[in-house]
Amino acid sequence: MNRRKLYKKTIVDYRKVTESVFVLAFEKDFDFEPGQVVAIDVEPEGKPRLYSIASGVNDKNVEIIFDEKPDGKLTPFLSKLNIGDVIYVSKPFGLFRCDDDEAWWIASGTGVAPFVSMIRSGKGKGKILLHGGRRDENFYFSEVVENELEAGNYVRCTSRQPDTRYYNGRLTSWLREQELLPKEIKYYLCGSAEMVVEVRDILLNRGIPFGNIVSETYF
Ligand SMILES: Cc1cc2nc3c(=O)[nH]c(=O)nc-3n(C[C@H](O)[C@H](O)[C@H](O)COP(=O)(O)OP(=O)(O)OC[C@H]3O[C@@H](n4cnc5c(N)ncnc54)[C@H](O)[C@@H]3O)c2cc1C
Repeated sequence: MNRRKLYKKTIVDYRKVTESVFVLAFEKDFDFEPGQVVAIDVEPEGKPRLYSIASGVNDKNVEIIFDEKPDGKLTPFLSKLNIGDVIYVSKPFGLFRCDDDEAWWIASGTGVAPFVSMIRSGKGKGKILLHGGRRDENFYFSEVVENELEAGNYVRCTSRQPDTRYYNGRLTSWLREQELLPKEIKYYLCGSAEMVVEVRDILLNRGIPFGNIVSETYF
């Protein structure tokens, strides 16, 4: 596989969202399609990891959200950065893109990032977002989603907080409970391999055509 060229960027915004989740931003000097990713590293010649862009196409900065894996190769370093520090970033790429038709968006954890980019780029109309997280604090960018999607079109499923304000259980349980899953629309899945595989199985078993299921797996 060809190595992607990485470009030096200065972090212009950085915030901790939960104990292990962070958002960082650098100035935008490229165009992208909502849903695309960039490769990021803390050194120019390392082994970069991929991150979905969470910002909108017309925003000044490119924002990404990442979850620190304590035993990971990159995120323990990313989580110690500050505004003014340097990272190395590729040009955007990827084919996880969404049109303007009605669709369901299904995300686990930080997998909501591409959908946030789509919303911030004006593609939220006619979309339903199903987001799964362990706790209520894991519905990242909920203020962006709440502003754009109708209340009934934003479903949050909390799997490990029994006193949740939202649906108490995994998003796969919520999906299985639905009597009607429309067959003619597209389902966009993004997040952990476990979630993507399980949701795809549920949808296929309910008669959704394979071609209507589009997925981006974080591995
Ligand atoms: C298309 C795409 C988009 C992505 N977008 C995002 C995003 O927006 N936000 C986000 O947080 N993440 C995203 N990811 C995941 C991201 O690229 C990294 O994989 C993640 O941040 C972990 O990187 P790391 O180097 O810290 O951990 P890694 O070193 O990659 O390790 C990750 C985990 O796997 C375990 N592991 C590593 N190697 C092995 C092995 N050989 N066998 C068993 N276990 C192993 C580690 O112990 C650790 O728990 C995306 C991935 C893809 C493919």
